[in-house]
Amino acid sequence: PRHKAVHPTPFLYLLIYCRHQVLRIKTKNEEQVKQLQLLESLEHLELDFWISPSARALPVDVRIPAVSVQSVKAFLESQGIEYSILIEDLQDVLDQEQRDMAESAQRQRSSSFDFGAYHTLDDINEELDHLASEYSFVEKIQIGESYEKRPLYVLKFSTGGSNRPAIWLDAGIHSREWVTQASALWIANKIASDYGTDDSVTSLLDKMDLFLLPVANPDGFVYTHTSNRMWRKTRSKNPGSVCVGVDPNRNWDAGFGGPGASSNPCSESYRGPSANSEVEVKSVVDFIKNHGNFKAFLTLHSYSQLLMYPYGYKCTRPDDYAELESLGRAAASSIRSLYGTTFQVGTICSTIYQASGGSIDWSYDNGIKYSFAFELRDTGRYGFLLPANQILPAAKETWLGLKRIMEHVRDKSS
Ligand SMILES: [Zn+2]
Repeated sequence: PRHKAVHPTPFLYLLIYCRHQVLRIKTKNEEQVKQLQLLESLEHLELDFWISPSARALPVDVRIPAVSVQSVKAFLESQGIEYSILIEDLQDVLDQEQRDMAESAQRQRSSSFDFGAYHTLDDINEELDHLASEYSFVEKIQIGESYEKRPLYVLKFSTGGSNRPAIWLDAGIHSREWVTQASALWIANKIASDYGTDDSVTSLLDKMDLFLLPVANPDGFVYTHTSNRMWRKTRSKNPGSVCVGVDPNRNWDAGFGGPGASSNPCSESYRGPSANSEVEVKSVVDFIKNHGNFKAFLTLHSYSQLLMYPYGYKCTRPDDYAELESLGRAAASSIRSLYGTTFQVGTICSTIYQASGGSIDWSYDNGIKYSFAFELRDTGRYGFLLPANQILPAAKETWLGLKRIMEHVRDKSS
């Protein structure tokens, strides 16, 4: 038994999302996509696209502040663009999430970490220490620090050897995608406790090391807890602009500055002044380059239920298309086997949209063949505000997909 400090949930959202709506828009043709891109460029509306226009097979989901709801709907109707209301009042969903967290904090006072709840950064870091103390082959290492000087902690799983072939797994590079940090923690605990009992995990860790970064954007994550639940970017200051932050998944040195990233600091997909300008990105890049023996790069996002491989910055197939596609499908079928959850598989460009400066394009172009990005639950009923009672199902099914990929990587690595 251990002492469990409970950090109370900061409850500072007030009512900033009162009567914000999330609309789902179904575009029928290129012309309508263009109309939405025009809408996106109108900054005074303060629209927050959860799924951007130009998504290939996906609908467009957009959060609209209360003051803009009427004008946006009028615009869509005047253009004959179909939409439905995904979330009637976002504040109601946020309030429920806060109540769930408060209840979980109560329950946890006397027992161990609740993997089925959302947690603050302090609680997560404490659990990383706990896992490292519980398991001799798990170590907490620091690979850098964030813009606001928070440590970037990675769990290293290594049962011996030196510089073994390795697998990278990160979560939460987009801070509002809370199911990803939560799933990464459950997965860390699962891997640690399965070693020595589960054949697959045991043979994996007998041959390879695993590095897991559960909160890749800690500044953004803290901000989602204290100030703005919908925060996606880093918290770095942009000289000459009142807008804060860079989209850390447009900041990698892979097609940097190309289509599908913005040069406007106020955009949710602002790429930053230069590749690797964000210390959170640079720290991972340096760590992986210095290590030099990574075979897989896996990253968790939400939402949309997709399993994607390169490329995003261009719409051509990667050299390893056939292998990545078939491995992706195998992983998706493992995911589906648990609860029937379906994941679409494909390149980033073919499944969502062209997006430059993404992490798996960087890893792939730097020789890490098995580069995959997961978009976890759901398909938009709750979007980023996935209820806590879906954390465990999401983590468990995702783990099956990850494990399928890791087994393949293990078998292909010498
Ligand atoms: Zn994301």
